[in-house]
Amino acid sequence: MESTLRRTWAEVDLDALERNYKKIREHIGSDVKFLGVVKADAYGHGSVQCSKLLEKIGADYLAVSSADEALELRVNGVNMPILILGHTPKEQVARMIKYNITQAVTCKAKAVEYSEEATRLKGTLKIHIKVDTGMSRLGYLCGEGNFETGVEGIVEACTMPGLDAEGIFTHFAVSDEPGEECREYTEKQFDLFKRVINAAEEKWGKSFCLKHCANTGAVACYPKEYFMDMVRPGLLLYGYGEFAKQMNLEPVMSLKTSVSTIKIYPKGTAISYGGIFKTEKTTRIGVLPYGYADGFLRSLSNKCELYTKEGPAALRGKICMDMCMIDITDMPSVDVGSEVEIYGKKNPIEKLAEIAGTIPYELTCAVSKRVPRVYYKDGEEIAKELMLRM
Ligand SMILES: *Cc1c(COP(=O)(O)O)cnc(C)c1O
Repeated sequence: MESTLRRTWAEVDLDALERNYKKIREHIGSDVKFLGVVKADAYGHGSVQCSKLLEKIGADYLAVSSADEALELRVNGVNMPILILGHTPKEQVARMIKYNITQAVTCKAKAVEYSEEATRLKGTLKIHIKVDTGMSRLGYLCGEGNFETGVEGIVEACTMPGLDAEGIFTHFAVSDEPGEECREYTEKQFDLFKRVINAAEEKWGKSFCLKHCANTGAVACYPKEYFMDMVRPGLLLYGYGEFAKQMNLEPVMSLKTSVSTIKIYPKGTAISYGGIFKTEKTTRIGVLPYGYADGFLRSLSNKCELYTKEGPAALRGKICMDMCMIDITDMPSVDVGSEVEIYGKKNPIEKLAEIAGTIPYELTCAVSKRVPRVYYKDGEEIAKELMLRM
C-alpha cells in the first residue's frame, strides 16, 4: 500500500462530504428523509467509508445497484437500511432477507419470483415499487394506455405473500437539464407518479411509508413538494456539477499524481503514440504515472490541462495505458516528485468532463481499482484503501 502512494492516488475529503450532506439536509427540511446514493462504489469515492460516515451523521437510507454492492456494505459493518435500485436475481433473495436489504421491484415477473422465493424461505423481503413515469428504463409502465394495468400490477405486488411494500419511487430523465421542455417533462413525470400512488393506495387500502423521486436535479431545482418523504441525491452529495456549485457544495475527491520523470526534447520531437503532438521548441516534459488504466479518458489526449504547483500544464500527446505527459517547459519549480492535481479543488472536474464530452459521473466512476483511495476526516488521514488483490 505505501508503495503505491505518491504515484497516483485519490484523496477523499470526508469533511467535505459531511458539509455537503448537512447543506442538502438544511435545504430539504427536517421532515424529509435522506437517501444517499452510494452505487458504483459511491461514484468511485469508496462506498464503505462514505456509507459509514453517512450512517454516523444521520442519513436515513442508502442505495446501491446490486446485491454485491449491498453485501459489501453489510460485511463492512454498515447497518442502516439499504435499497438495491437495480436487478437482483431471485437466487439472492435469501441473502437479502438475511441481511435486511430492500429490493426494488420493477415489474410483475420480478414480483412473482421474489414472492415465491421469500415464501419458500418463510421470510419477508422488503421492497420498494419502481414506477416508470418516463425514464423508459426499469419500472412498472404507467403512462398513457398503461395506467390501469400498471396500477393493478403494483397493487398485486403489494399484496403478494412474502413481500413488504415499504416504498414506491420513480426516476426523472431530464430533471438536471435546463430549458422549459425538460421542466415540463419532469412535471409530467411527477404528476403521473402522484396519480399512480393515489390510485394504488386507494386500491390497496394502505399507504406507502416512503415515496421518493428527487435525484440531484430535482433536489437542486424543483420545489419542496418533489422531495416527498425522501430525497435520493448522488452527484450532488459528492459536490460536482452546476447545482453543487449553486448550493456551495464542495468536490469530495481530489485525484492526484506525481511527476515520475522529466525529459528535455529538442524542437520537432513527436511525443507519445501516434505522434499527434510535436514540440515547437525545446520542451521540458513531465511523465506522469497516470493513464487510461487508472481511469483517465483517452479522448482527453492532447486536449486538457492538469494542475501543477505553478498552475495548469498542458497535456501533450496521446494518453497511454499507464502514463501521460505534460508540458512543464515554463515551470522550473515542477520537479520529479512534484504533485499534480488531475482534478479536485483547483482543477474542476466539470471542465475535464466538458472537454471529454462527458459528465463528471463518468470521470469519478472511472477511477480504477489500482488507484488507492486515501480518506481524510477532521483534516487527518484516517484510512487508506487499495482495491488490488494483495
Ligand atoms: C443513480 C440514481 C440516483 C442518483 O442520481 P444523481 O443524478 O447522481 O443524483 C437516484 N435514483 C436512481 C434510481 C438512480 O439510479
